[in-house]
Amino acid sequence: MACVIGQQLRLYNSLGRRVEDFTPCAARGGEQSVGLYSCGPTVYSYQHLGNMRPYVFADTLRRALRWKGIPYRHVVNITDVGHAVADSDTGEDKLEVAAARERRSVEDIAAFYTKDWLAALAALGVEPADEYPRASAYVPQMIEFAKRLTELGYTYELPSGLYFDTSKSPGYGALALLDLEGQIEGARVEHVEGRRHKSDFALWRAEEPGVRRVMRWDSPWGWGAPGWHLECSVMSMSLLGAHFDIHTGGIDHRQLHHVNEIAQSEAYLGDGQPWVKYWLHNEFILLDSGKISKSAGHTLRLANLVEDGYHPMAYRLFLLGGHYRSQLDFTSAALDAAQATLVRLVHRVSGLRPLPLVETLAVARDLIPAQDKQAASYVEQLDEAISADLATPRVLALLQESLRDTSLSAEGLRVVVAAADGLLGLGLGTLKAAEVEGRRSLSSLEPGEVETIERLVSERTQARKEKNWPRADEIRAELDRLGVQVTDTPSGPTWELR
Ligand SMILES: [Zn+2]
Repeated sequence: MACVIGQQLRLYNSLGRRVEDFTPCAARGGEQSVGLYSCGPTVYSYQHLGNMRPYVFADTLRRALRWKGIPYRHVVNITDVGHAVADSDTGEDKLEVAAARERRSVEDIAAFYTKDWLAALAALGVEPADEYPRASAYVPQMIEFAKRLTELGYTYELPSGLYFDTSKSPGYGALALLDLEGQIEGARVEHVEGRRHKSDFALWRAEEPGVRRVMRWDSPWGWGAPGWHLECSVMSMSLLGAHFDIHTGGIDHRQLHHVNEIAQSEAYLGDGQPWVKYWLHNEFILLDSGKISKSAGHTLRLANLVEDGYHPMAYRLFLLGGHYRSQLDFTSAALDAAQATLVRLVHRVSGLRPLPLVETLAVARDLIPAQDKQAASYVEQLDEAISADLATPRVLALLQESLRDTSLSAEGLRVVVAAADGLLGLGLGTLKAAEVEGRRSLSSLEPGEVETIERLVSERTQARKEKNWPRADEIRAELDRLGVQVTDTPSGPTWELR
């Protein structure tokens, strides 16, 4: 493992529910990089705002690893088969339902929503993963995996498919801190005829009699499709090796999906070792005090925010302004505040450009002018913040503090800003003020501001009527200053926010 510099990186491990020192696995296959796997999207519809948080979080983790000089390899799967509606083991596949709804092929559906998701990630400054494996490309390996589990005696077959017997998995549910039966209480678990334990889950979903799936494969258990949990175990091990370092995902996966991934993977490996050492989960975004999710009828997307005049980076800033393990209340006031902060940062930083490229602590230390002790101290504080379970609110605060600190040398400040931005990924080195200012929405105005604008517009109309051109121009300049665009039409003047 490459030399790790600075503070010890500490991360909150859901397995055990505590902040722990991060110690990477030993080198595997000659490549000394940390294996990082993040559960990706099921590509049957647009990804809503809440669904973007896991990837901004994983991106922050990657930036922290890079900062510490820890090489990594990041895999994010794309679920294009096997995810049944209502996250259950039976019933229709989400992709097939979407294809029927939109009268398109499942391939078109998957390709379209994958592309849209990747574009949203790029707009949010999320760097691409090393690999985006698609579940449909790994079905033969999934069948082999399930065959091995069957040979080892972990499975049983029902007419509806092949099931994993969770009672044979010692420590089943440890990640969720629940016992075998407890995990299921209150969860949406459908009745499956013949299933031995409520927590048993499908490895293979057989076609129902008389129903021919669109996506179907032949298997020792008949024609059908893989269960949803199987793909992550198979693809992560294929691309990162049997054991790897970090598995991430939304906190909703902590109760079921990741529990099942662990059970089947440790059964498959049978070496008595924990499959993955660190499990990291991000919390939800709350909209009107409910989780944003498609099933709740909310489908607010990044594109909607952009239509409303917000810059995508304002949403990233909103996310990073909270710790990844905190629930965040998504409100227009919070987003307005993030957008205003972004605009201020871009204005302030544009005067410092060009910024150096500072992605690691080592480079930051190298570039700080020797006499600028204060700048050096900021860099060490940034390291301390990101090393403390990725404390992005603290990184953001340090960035703002350094920009107000007049004791820094110009070069020292440039390095501090570039270092903070390397961790936050806001793109402050290149974002243009005109891009981030965007069009403001009426909701961004202060109380009473609309009345003020209306009054000025009618005063201007009056001045024009009286041919008092200097006064009319004066008012127009005032409206300009407020960011209001007035257009004179035959039926009178109209105005809008720029
Ligand atoms: Zn997964």
